[in-house]
Amino acid sequence: MAEKGITVKKNENFSEWYTQVIQKAELADYTGVSGCIVFRPYYYAVWEKIMDLVNARIKKYSVKNAYFPLFIPESLLIKEEEHVEGFAPEVAWVTHAGKTKLNEKLAIRPTSEAIMYDSFSKWIRSWRDLPLKINQWSNVVRWEFKHPVPFLRTREFLFNEGHTVFATEKESLKEQDWVIEMYRYICEDYLGIYSMIGRKTEKEKFAGAVFSVSLEHFMPNGKAIQGPIFHHDGQKFAKAYDVTFLNKNEKKEYAWQNTWAISSRMLGVLIYSHGDDKGLVLPPKVAPNKCVLVPILIKGKEKNVLKKCKDLNRNLKKFDCIFDDSDYSAGWKFNQWEMKGVPVRIEVGPKDVEKKQVVLVRRDTGEKLFVKESEMVKKIEELLLDIQNNLYKRSKKMALDNMVDVKDTKELKKAIKDKKLAKAFWCGDQGCEEMMKDQTGGAKILNMPLNQPKKFGKCVYCGKDGKHLAYIAKSY
Ligand SMILES: [Zn+2]
Repeated sequence: MAEKGITVKKNENFSEWYTQVIQKAELADYTGVSGCIVFRPYYYAVWEKIMDLVNARIKKYSVKNAYFPLFIPESLLIKEEEHVEGFAPEVAWVTHAGKTKLNEKLAIRPTSEAIMYDSFSKWIRSWRDLPLKINQWSNVVRWEFKHPVPFLRTREFLFNEGHTVFATEKESLKEQDWVIEMYRYICEDYLGIYSMIGRKTEKEKFAGAVFSVSLEHFMPNGKAIQGPIFHHDGQKFAKAYDVTFLNKNEKKEYAWQNTWAISSRMLGVLIYSHGDDKGLVLPPKVAPNKCVLVPILIKGKEKNVLKKCKDLNRNLKKFDCIFDDSDYSAGWKFNQWEMKGVPVRIEVGPKDVEKKQVVLVRRDTGEKLFVKESEMVKKIEELLLDIQNNLYKRSKKMALDNMVDVKDTKELKKAIKDKKLAKAFWCGDQGCEEMMKDQTGGAKILNMPLNQPKKFGKCVYCGKDGKHLAYIAKSY
């Protein structure tokens, strides 16, 4: 266990704070390979929760899990031009087996379209085989050259890859609704993170997609992070990988496809969103342990307190409560479990035993409550609900408080300099999009909200008629 708590303040040195939280709260660890991290058990449990939520939801929509190989032959990967162009600089290749050079080099999947659609083209014969809905849980490798940040920018990360195939465009477009709602519900209702849902620009969309719809999250340090995403591929991949079917008139048609994903990046967004100077703050719904029970041991009176704690602990199983009866001091334990983000702490000392009460402490606000033993379970349930709601409310408020409407380049530059999230009209011209990035030192259009206004103002860059309302910020 770590010796000391977090020694820097979140708003003073964000990146050092993040590094300390990850290591001291035992969420992840670095390895000998730059950009490749260990997901430690305590935090991997949060990823498992996300997997459970996705698995439960996709089953409702008849999506089946499967597994495809890690290696993709070069000849397969290069079939869809835009796709390969988008990924080429980041692909890691296997060229040798032992000392023998391979006949064809193998890509370590940066994503699985190529290998999956090669199979799909064999599996799908007629309209009867559609829709085909496959998901896989996988690790992918994208050899980033930017400075790696655990969870947020790593060379290897984990995600779900939903890959679906339909007979008609209409059906494929309809899928967007439930997929985006699934991701919204995971991000907002479980992770407590406010999400801005919108369409990516042509420049920022997924390589090979017709369009992409993303959830974007604004962080307290003024930067946004892209969360889960849905891509509509149209027939682009179908044409590249020959995913065809015979329609009811026995005529060959190309299929319509979608891809969608949530990645382990969200584990980083979670730390950024809710963490404070004491460390991680976990929303109760995804916390592996919803409470921790700490006996306050005073010499000569240990026995009663420990006995009481053991009794109480029997009623705390459903919260996966940690009973910390280790020989560390109570103060040390408080710091430790606060650092790990456990939502509620239960303290029991000799006086509490006498008064038949317990002390409950909320991780999100630090508020202390004295509660009768008999009401402990009910009160914890209430607190967990309240903490869950409070974290989401805070996340939403932070994003909305930082949103500013900007009308021209001057205002945009100021907003970005002040670490705000700019909302602006844009004419749709890629030149303007690039100039915005240039003028602001790297801020980009995150996405364009799905609910667009009826009237548009002038483009923030060129002053011509706007066609889209866009969110603009610096982004990871
Ligand atoms: Zn413009």
